[in-house]
Amino acid sequence: MRLKNVEDTRKLGEYLGQRVQAYDCLALIGDLGSGKTTFTQALAKGMGIQEVVSSATFTLINIYEGDLPLFHFDAYRLEDPEEFFEIGGEEYLNTRGVAVVEWADLVMEALPEDILILSWTRDLGDERYLQVEATGKRSRQLEEELRKFEDTCL
Ligand code: ADP
Ligand code: MG
Repeated sequence: MRLKNVEDTRKLGEYLGQRVQAYDCLALIGDLGSGKTTFTQALAKGMGIQEVVSSATFTLINIYEGDLPLFHFDAYRLEDPEEFFEIGGEEYLNTRGVAVVEWADLVMEALPEDILILSWTRDLGDERYLQVEATGKRSRQLEEELRKFEDTCL
């Protein structure tokens, strides 16, 4: 999917935020500045979370309370999937809420079976390209929602 500018990314995040359910896990992959945190901020907004979502690069995990809590991980500074367990990753994944993992490629083995993988790439400028991969039944439903978004909202 092509996202022309930051507004498209925000629209996408809010749209998905209105459709996520408990125990959904979104795995975000992409270089620094590709839009992972920007997307997560919009997702939180769509989930009705009032608090401002900030980068989790240094905190490793930030938790936002809402009707459905958001567990925002950033694996950039983790050495290996084992460290994801050490910071309590697995417990959060088994807690009612929505998990978003930036730099998910670094901890893929620690993530659930059924995840929606969103891979971000960019050229120069504000355009972003999003590759979507679903690995199970629930994530395929989310993938379908993204397809609807692409058809009707962009
Ligand atoms: P990451 O978390 O992947 O490192 P960020 O979301 O922190 O990336 O940063 C993305 C930067 O790129 C922000 O400054 C944002 O305003 C800018 N940007 C420009 N165009 C887009 C776009 N289409 N989608 C997301 N971010 C964009
Ligand atoms: Mg980030």
